[in-house]
Amino acid sequence: MSDVFQIGGFELKAFSDGILKTSTDFVLGMDKAQANVLTGADEDGAVFIPVNNFLFQKDGATVLIDAGAGDTMQATMGKLPGNLKAAGHALESITHIILTHIHPDHANGLVDAAGAALFPNAEILVHAEEFDFWMADNDGSESDKIRAQRARNRINLKPYMDRVRRMRDGDVMVGCTPMMAPGHSPGHTCWRIGTGKNAFVAWGDLVHFSDIQIAHPDSTVKYDLDPDLARRSRLRMLDMVANEGLAVAGAHVAGPGLGYLSRKGTGYAYNPA
Ligand SMILES: [Zn+2]
Repeated sequence: MSDVFQIGGFELKAFSDGILKTSTDFVLGMDKAQANVLTGADEDGAVFIPVNNFLFQKDGATVLIDAGAGDTMQATMGKLPGNLKAAGHALESITHIILTHIHPDHANGLVDAAGAALFPNAEILVHAEEFDFWMADNDGSESDKIRAQRARNRINLKPYMDRVRRMRDGDVMVGCTPMMAPGHSPGHTCWRIGTGKNAFVAWGDLVHFSDIQIAHPDSTVKYDLDPDLARRSRLRMLDMVANEGLAVAGAHVAGPGLGYLSRKGTGYAYNPA
């Protein structure tokens, strides 16, 4: 099911891919007791975070932001294709998919279990740094996790390889401009979409635990490939978004995932749209 917002000069729809079960064990730079209080976790630290996707239509293009997890992660995920269809958006009608980064909960849903494209007519827009890192050959220096993820990402992108558009900061396609915000992944990208005051920023995993990292942007997560770089990217982007008063579309903020930031203490507060 979708929630509809008027933003960026068009209708933006939010679609859930489902709920991801994670844990405050993944939070760095904060003690677990505090992390549990902020997230409402029980003593075990189990946290359930939403996985939000977004769609808008512009000049004949139908643009999807991130592709969900497919059936690869948890039974509570992989709901995006069904939710799109239920709202009247056939998967064949998607003309572009913007990737904030190529992690399982954002990109494994590009393909079905047989590796066929779930979005047969979609061009992929992705930051060149992100694409090139994951598509690079292993050189023996990488961790097992990166090696495994590279293997999976080749599956995710294989049916799209002749229609991947590698973009760099400043490029514009279907009203979308990448702003690299690396650290969580090497080319993690916040996308500025629309123009002027009406623009919004699809910020991917700039915050992973929104109940923690918006108010305490210094805290990082074990999912970050380079936590210190991720922290600096987060501080820079949160500052920009708050200064400009831009709306934000977050992959893991409280569903449906569109809101605004205000400054609060040493961090920020999230105000749902
Ligand atoms: Zn994510």
